[in-house]
Amino acid sequence: VGMALLDRAGNFVRVNPAFEAMMGRSAAELQGTNFLTYTHPDDRRMGVEAGMCLLRGEVDRFQLDGRWVRRDGDIAWARLSVGLAGDDHLVAQVQDITEEQRAKERLRASHGYYAALLNQSTDALVVVDHNGVLRWASPAAERLFGYAANSKAGEVFTSLVHEDDLDRLLRAFHHLLESPGTTDSVEIRVATADGRGYRHAEVVATNRLDDPDIGGIVANVRDVTDRVDAAGRLEWQAMHDSLTGLANRALLLDRLAHAMERSKRSDDHTALLFLDLDRFKLVNDTMGHDVGDRLLIEVAERLVQAARVGDTVARLGGDEFVVLAEGLADTADVEIVAERIRASLATPVRLPEGDVTVSASIGVAFDTDHRPETLLREADTALYRAKERGKNRYELYDESLRLEAQHRLSTEQWVRRSLDNDAVVVHYQPILELSTGRIVAAEALVRLLGPDGRLHLPGTFLSVAEDTGLVVALGAQVIEFATSQLARWRRELGAHAPAQISVNVAARQLSSPQLTEVLDHAVRRAGIEPSSIILEYTESTVISADRSTARIVDALHEAGYRLAVDDFGTGYSSLAYLKRFPVSVVKLDRHFVSGLGVSEEDLAIVKAVLTLGRALGLTTIAEGVETPEQRDLLIELGCDRVQGFLYAPALSPQDFSAMVRRQIRERVTS
Ligand code: C2E
Ligand code: CA
Ligand code: CA
Repeated sequence: VGMALLDRAGNFVRVNPAFEAMMGRSAAELQGTNFLTYTHPDDRRMGVEAGMCLLRGEVDRFQLDGRWVRRDGDIAWARLSVGLAGDDHLVAQVQDITEEQRAKERLRASHGYYAALLNQSTDALVVVDHNGVLRWASPAAERLFGYAANSKAGEVFTSLVHEDDLDRLLRAFHHLLESPGTTDSVEIRVATADGRGYRHAEVVATNRLDDPDIGGIVANVRDVTDRVDAAGRLEWQAMHDSLTGLANRALLLDRLAHAMERSKRSDDHTALLFLDLDRFKLVNDTMGHDVGDRLLIEVAERLVQAARVGDTVARLGGDEFVVLAEGLADTADVEIVAERIRASLATPVRLPEGDVTVSASIGVAFDTDHRPETLLREADTALYRAKERGKNRYELYDESLRLEAQHRLSTEQWVRRSLDNDAVVVHYQPILELSTGRIVAAEALVRLLGPDGRLHLPGTFLSVAEDTGLVVALGAQVIEFATSQLARWRRELGAHAPAQISVNVAARQLSSPQLTEVLDHAVRRAGIEPSSIILEYTESTVISADRSTARIVDALHEAGYRLAVDDFGTGYSSLAYLKRFPVSVVKLDRHFVSGLGVSEEDLAIVKAVLTLGRALGLTTIAEGVETPEQRDLLIELGCDRVQGFLYAPALSPQDFSAMVRRQIRERVTS
């Protein structure tokens, strides 16, 4: 301890060696000089005032911490304890507290440093005690959640957390309390100060209860709202249709699986309503995709309105929708829903482009075996029947449909087998020139040879072949047969062979790019020219043709193939189509022909078509001619060609040749 004796004016009288060491100055140097000389300027005033108090007798001792300036210029901290020594002197005991002060300064500096860091941090630090009472929060907490600095201190943290997350949070908290040093993390929603919502927070907390400097649980709280939102959006997108916001197939299947599970354990039932808009493609093609999209959005909204609360409405793509209805007592319940849906679509949709009326065909399946795939398939089958039976209606999947579905499945297998086992047979119906009665062409008509040796007509298998796409392979075989048959007739019959052969082309074939290849390959192999092939496609195929189909049709025409519109008059009868497509033959549907001499209306139609055909320079063929009266009327009306039972049904190649030979003989003898 340094000791110094000073006079009343503050001049040093005597000092001990410890004091000398502290001041870095010798006793001789200090003697007679005033203590203020060595006092740090900022501390001089404090020193003088304290000394005055002492001298005036207001205190008999004072203590203060102050700074000396040492000889070497360093600042030294001293703790002075000063008292009176007699009337004329003061005695100061001086303790060097420089080290202590430096340590404090360092600490202060480092506090500032950490405070600044905390302030910078985007994560908030929160300290709670073992009761869950908030003790302290870093400034970031205010930025994240809006609570003014430590305004929530003293409250239990549970008041700030979303109730659905509390259980999880409390479990984590109790886990933390079990032992010091434990860390746990949990994602929770924290209420914002404005009371309007929650932010998603990732909390990583560590038990520091036994750390004397902290004595609490320290939680690092990070705002992950953006990440959760983005993840939520992605999740939402994965499960919903982006156009309508309805559930998509994935979500539907998920809900369906759950519904089936539930209905297995309860008395109520689940039903699936499979919807397909009628003639949506026509709207899309004629009014544009934009209108189509808006129509789908409107339909989606109406379906949601018509469905019951809790039902799932999904869009499977295109114009296919599904309503999953749960908790039904019996089929009557689901019929009510189906009717309501149909009714909801009845009001025309108002669009800037004009009103559009939509209708839907609905297939309904009611759960029986609790398998989601079954329900979907059955609803689809019922939908198919609704379409077949005239659209804008619903059909319930029932036993007859189950049998029909089974039948279609076995038919599909039969067609497949027939393709593999050379059981495809083609017969040819003669087409005659009306003015001369000569066979000028043949229509190739496909049959399947059954295991029983009987020939089966297209009516028994064609629609299945079309639906399954098997018609593409089937059609390719027919083209092969027909072209090589024509070549063979030419060899056998010479100039009497039919000049052309007609082949029916299904819509599926026409939209398949293979068709051109198959045809080119067939005519090359048979050594015949494309112009001797007439491709017959129906009016409805042409109407529903999209751009790429139209391109294929154009390419076929370019390549020299002749195109015929089959069953003309049965579809939309828009004669405009005849001009839009490179058609050279028009075939009058047999229903109008059969009406000749019976129905005035049919006569008028036949007349109109033949007149138009002539005007457009087309070859006209009347099919299904069965009576001489029909023939005579057709001659009168100027039809070019005929085919029908009056002349011959479809014949085997041999019978066809025989008929041609008979004609030759008859002509020679007559
Ligand atoms: P379609 O193109 O209208 O063919 C004419 C159908 O009418 C043939 O029936 C034919 O046997 C029948 N028919 C011919 N003359 C008469 C008649 O005087 N009175 C009546 N009532 N019917 C007559 P088929 O062979 O049963 O073929 C039915 C349909 O199957 C065809 O109708 C055609 O659309 C389709 N089809 C036949 N072969 C093929 C093929 O190879 N490919 C494709 N895609 N479709 C084919
Ligand atoms: Ca035909
Ligand atoms: Ca026809």
